[in-house]
This record gives sequence, C-alpha cells and structure tokens, in this order.
Amino acid sequence: MVLQTRTAAKAEVNEYIQRVLDTVIQRNPGESEFHQAVKEFMYSMTPVLERDPKYIQYNILERIVEPERMITFRVPWVDDQGRIQVNRGYRVQFNSAIGPYKGGIRFHPSVNAGIIKFLGFEQTFKNSLSGMPIGGGKGGSDFDPKGKSEGEVMRFVQSFMTELYKYIGPDEDVPAGDIGVGPREIGYMFGQYKRICGGHEAGVFTGKGLTYGGSLVRKEATGYGCVYFVEEMLKEKGMSLEGRTVVVSGSGNVAIYAMEKAMQLGAKVVACSDSNGYVYDPQGINLETVKQLKEVERRRIKDYVQEHPHAEYHEGCSGIWTIPCDIALPCATQNEISEESASILVKNGVIAVAEGANMPSTLEAIDIFLQNDVLFGPAKAANAGGVSVSALEMSQNSMRFNWTFEEVDAKLRQIMSNIYRNSMAAAEEYGYTGNLVVGANIAGFLKVADSMIAQGVV
Ligand code: NAP
Repeated sequence: MVLQTRTAAKAEVNEYIQRVLDTVIQRNPGESEFHQAVKEFMYSMTPVLERDPKYIQYNILERIVEPERMITFRVPWVDDQGRIQVNRGYRVQFNSAIGPYKGGIRFHPSVNAGIIKFLGFEQTFKNSLSGMPIGGGKGGSDFDPKGKSEGEVMRFVQSFMTELYKYIGPDEDVPAGDIGVGPREIGYMFGQYKRICGGHEAGVFTGKGLTYGGSLVRKEATGYGCVYFVEEMLKEKGMSLEGRTVVVSGSGNVAIYAMEKAMQLGAKVVACSDSNGYVYDPQGINLETVKQLKEVERRRIKDYVQEHPHAEYHEGCSGIWTIPCDIALPCATQNEISEESASILVKNGVIAVAEGANMPSTLEAIDIFLQNDVLFGPAKAANAGGVSVSALEMSQNSMRFNWTFEEVDAKLRQIMSNIYRNSMAAAEEYGYTGNLVVGANIAGFLKVADSMIAQGVV
C-alpha cells in the first residue's frame, strides 16, 4: 500500500514537471537557451516535490517560470556618420519574492528575449543562494559596443536609459554590468538616469566607479568568488590550488579576476581566450599583458603573442578545452563547453570545473562531468560572488559608508563558503550527496518558493 502511494506520488510529480516544461516550450517558442535553463533546473525539483506536495498545490513551478514582467523597447541612436541606428532593449523582471529585482545588463549582438529570460531565471535562484535579500532580473540589448567610438557608446546608452529609467530604482530594480557592459557603460547609464530623475540615487546601479558610490572588490568579485568556490570544492577532498594547471576561457571581467585569484593561490594559468580564439602560454599567462590589452586598449587576445612570442595563438574558441589542465574555468559565455569538449577535459584528467560564466556547459557536458566524478561548481553557485558584492554595494550606498578592500573581500569569501556549504547540505538532504547542481537548485528554490506562498497568489 505504502509502495503504491509512493509510486502514485512519483507519477504525479513527473507529470507535473513535464506539464510545466511543455508549457514553457509552447509559450516561449524558439527560445532554446531559456528552455535549456528551465530543463536543467526542473530535473532537480523531483525530490523536493515528492517530499512536499504543497509546491504542486500552490502551482509554484508554473508561476516561477513565468517572468513577473518583460519589457521590450526601441533604442534609436545616431552613429558617427550621422546615420540613425535602431537596436532593441530588454529588461526582464523575473521574480521579486525575496527582494527588488537585481541582475546585469548585457550588450552583445546575440542578445534576444530567450537569452535575457534564461539569464533572469538563473539569476532568481543565484540571488536567493547568495543569502542576500534580492530578487531576479536581467536586461540588455543586441547593441555591439565592439568597434564603436566613445561617442557612439554614450549616445546609445543615453537612449537605452531614456526608456529603462521608468522601470528601475533602488527599491524596485537595480541593474549592473554583464557581457559588454563594464564601468564605462554603467557610468553613462548612471549619468543619464541622474539627469532624468534628479538627485544622486547611488543605489540604483551597482558596479559603479569608486569615485561615485562603487564598492571595492566589485570589479574582482565574480572571478575571485569563482576561485574561492573552487578552493572550497578542493578543500573537501584535501586538495588545494597550489601547483595546479588552470585553463580559463574569456578575457573579460570575470576571466581576468579568476586568473588573478588562481595565480595568487599558487596555480599556473596557461590559457585564456576571446570570441575569436585562444592563447596558450606554457610558461603561464602574463596577466599584466592581458589587462593592458583587454581593459585598457580594448584589443584582441591574439595580440598577446606579439609581447610573448613563445606563446601560441589559435583561431576558434572550443580548442581551449583540449589543453590538459587540472581545473577548467569557463568564464566567457553560454554553451561554450559541449559534450565533446567535456569528454576531452575528462580524458585529460580535469579534477574540477567551476562556471564563472552563466550556463557555459551544455546539459550533456554537465552529465559527463557528473558521471566522471569531476568536482563541478554550477554557475548559480560558482559565479554568485559578483551579485553578492553588488548587494554589499547597495548596503554601503544605503549606509553612506564604505568598507575597506579587506573587509569586502572577507565577506565575499565567507559568502562563497556559505553558498558551497548550503548547496552541499541541500544535495545531501535530498539524496544527491555531492551533486552541487541539484543542491544549488534546491537551496536557491526553497527560499523563493516559500516566500511566494507566504505572499499569496500575486
Ligand atoms: P565581458 O567582460 O564582456 O567578457 C566576456 C568575455 O567572453 C570576453 O573575453 C569575450 O570576448 C568573451 N565572449 C563573449 N561572447 C562570446 C562568445 N559568443 N563566444 C566566445 N567568447 C565570447 O563579460 P563578463 O562580465 O566577464 O561576463 C562573462 C560571463 O560571466 C557571462 O556569461 C556573464 O553572464 C557571466 N557573469 C558575469 C558577472 C559579472 O559580474 N560581470 C557575474 C556573473 C556572471 P570578446 O572580447 O571577443 O567579445
């Protein structure tokens, strides 16, 4: 009898999850990245729903996959030749159950509604996992800042903000940076917001410059946090980063500071990349050169070999995963590690993979890592350091007070350790010991779901 009841409950859970997945696909046609993010999440929900049917009763899954609001708008601007250009802007306000919407803005030609929704969905659980009182949001545009003049970037950003300002605020929605949006773009956004709204509402953006309300360690936070997460995973197995060979994809904000922290902890980083190709430097990547090329001069990573002729440059991105390494840190973009790349990493003896980027591993790649007992830190957990320090920036703005670098760094390290521990504990409690994908999804979900139930059908 007990067995029969249990089987019936399992069937109900599976049927419910499948129905929600079908609805997501039918309501959001062609949005493959969003479908992928929801699928990865849903498969972790089975043990939660089996244990507590209230989440089915309150239809939480169907509510949680539907953004509270999705804003799409025209962004017209004038280029240096006097031609009128038109881009599309987005902001998804995904879930505000535990706090104001919070999440970055991405400027990249690949940006579309599906990518913004996948990022906003992931952000909701990441923010919950961070332990900070922030909801999930994300935004962006298909504008490509690469190759544009300062004046073009500024005019575009001012036009983007002339629409977006209506929907954001320190207690409503607090954007930050992401791909293609760094301190320069955040500065222009803040300037335009201030001009329209008046006052000096510092808490409406994070990732601001240090001279006007930014937080120390925000620039470094996602990369450093990702490496602190790796440190936790290794510590559990009695290992450390000392002497390890590390491969990092990307050479943007997350990648640069992941490399810096890995080096500080004694690892040797031998490769990094951009969207054209990758450099392999068997003597160890020279980070000062990468910073100069990417942060200061906005040049391509292939120019690295001009300064370091013993290093190799290879066209194309996926080849970076064929370089033997102990630790792989994908820090560029979504779906950059395929099943094939994951298999090569495993064959070459990778010990740990931590996702600095959002959803850089395909579902098949994640399966390969888990089946082969690779220590795997999923994005929601491993790259939550950025948004965590953003929340610390919001706190400092409210207090009108700044913490020192050491204070913020210590808080970041503690937050990453808590995220690791909470994800491990949730995995163990629900019968998936050591599986941080399931653990992070469950730990992130419970707080959001319980808050939604407490707030009624809204
Ligand atoms: P970024 O500074 O703009 O750097 C992005 C890097 O990835 C660049 O090296 C870029 O190369 C490369 N890249 C971008 N699109 C690519 C593509 N389609 N194929 C291959 N390479 C590509 O951005 P970021 O802030 O470091 O963000 C990197 C990742 O981390 C993203 O997934 C983002 O969502 C995630 N993330 C960022 C933060 C944060 O605090 N910034 C926090 C959490 C997660 P090019 O220079 O050639 O474009």
